[in-house]
Amino acid sequence: MPEEGPIRIVSNRLPVVLKRRRQRWEVEPGAGGLVQALRPILRDRGGAWIGWPGVTAETGDGWRPGLRSVSHSEGYELVPVVLDDSDVEGFYEGFANSIVWPLFHGFPDRCSFDASFFASYGRVNQKFTHAIADSHSDPGLLWIHDYHLFEVARRLRELGHQGPLAFFLHIPFPSVENFAKLPWRESLLKDLLHFDLIGFQTRRDLRHFQQCLSLVGVHPDLPDSPAMQRFRDGDRSLWAGAFPIGMDFRDFAARSLSSDVSTRVHQLRHDLGSGKLLLGIDRLDYTKGLIHRLKAYEQALTVHPALREEVVYFQLVVPSRENVPEYRALKREFDRVVGRINGRFSTPRWRPIHYLYNRVDPVELSALYRLADVALVTPLRDGMNLVAKEYCASQTDDAGALILSEFAGAAEQLQDGALLVNPYDIHDTARAIYQALTMPPDERRRRMRLMRTTLAESDVFWWASSFLETALMPSASLVTQQTLPPPGADKPGHPA
Ligand code: UDP
Repeated sequence: MPEEGPIRIVSNRLPVVLKRRRQRWEVEPGAGGLVQALRPILRDRGGAWIGWPGVTAETGDGWRPGLRSVSHSEGYELVPVVLDDSDVEGFYEGFANSIVWPLFHGFPDRCSFDASFFASYGRVNQKFTHAIADSHSDPGLLWIHDYHLFEVARRLRELGHQGPLAFFLHIPFPSVENFAKLPWRESLLKDLLHFDLIGFQTRRDLRHFQQCLSLVGVHPDLPDSPAMQRFRDGDRSLWAGAFPIGMDFRDFAARSLSSDVSTRVHQLRHDLGSGKLLLGIDRLDYTKGLIHRLKAYEQALTVHPALREEVVYFQLVVPSRENVPEYRALKREFDRVVGRINGRFSTPRWRPIHYLYNRVDPVELSALYRLADVALVTPLRDGMNLVAKEYCASQTDDAGALILSEFAGAAEQLQDGALLVNPYDIHDTARAIYQALTMPPDERRRRMRLMRTTLAESDVFWWASSFLETALMPSASLVTQQTLPPPGADKPGHPA
């Protein structure tokens, strides 16, 4: 990787878990794929991770010693940005989760375009900006993550920051028709122009971004390249590219073969019976298409009675945003439809849907992935969808089949191996369920091998290093390289 030097990562949440036990705070390092990928880079080059520790100012700061000790053991500094209760309400639950999340996932009718949310967003972005400015005097690369922090580059530039600023958006970038509904559309786009590099999950997101920039009169200035583009705004230039995020492929593959997981696979097989297993694993969210999926399964059981008593659909729903009324209503709707389908088809020896509303540990997760004959990943819209990738990584015998929504970011990389569906089309998904369950073993293996090869080549370590390499490359070198897509982003795009 060119240019040595420290790197600072900025994200809404610090990669730590804070727990209060009997008046004492316990702080543990986080465990997600992003942390695994960035930890060695931060340790190697030195640097810091800046973000909200997840507790508010009103809780006091008894967690600070624990955070310092995790900083010490992790080998890089964890810098907390402290928010108060009103910030969490206006910035996080308001602007981020009630405006950007629904709008960027294509649900404009779910947005509450409240001006006070936008004001709170500005105040919190300012807090982050000051925390960043105070954290180090080194002008090395700052890598900002996700939709909570769109304004940080502009605010840092206003403070005189000259160093490189890169940004990665983990969620989709919306079509111009949806983006244009945002009352603050120009200011958001102009803020993004202060970055030097923006990474998106897919080429489709990059194309949408390009179309949206035309709202502020900014156009790409190099011949069209579907995976990498340059935009000019006065004397500034911004590169934007598609960098599909990966997961820790080897870790999932190895865990899938571990003895703990094998033991659990046998127990689950015994408990769930010998029929074929369809698996869904999703956070409770309206973007995940859970109700459409249930109806597609119901349709498959209706049209193909031979599937009854021969297949079980196991759905793990991970609780999310439980204090938001909309999410509680979705949970009630999901429970109701599961009850209806089970009531309609169950027999004394068979229940068509097994449903767990919980979070499970990594061994249980891997056992489910390994056991499932078919994974149902049918979001109405998703930035990437790591469950799809983790399922394939865990299919070490190449035996499983993946049904994947064409509106998941993962579809750009996995389209040759997955059965792609339009999740809004219940009949289409029902057909794919039947096709996956009856697919000849040779074809399943051929498809799964294709996907596993792609995922092994473009894991989360590849993703982090290729993004950083691009972020640290001098602009002139990028001009000569821009017609070459970043590796792994070389699959043709999908219709917008
Ligand atoms: N996951 C988990 N515990 C569970 C179920 C899921 O840690 O009980 C993880 C899963 O391994 C995956 C993530 O949650 O890495 C879900 O990521 P995805 O991109 O599919 O969806 P998101 O929830 O980020 O929208």
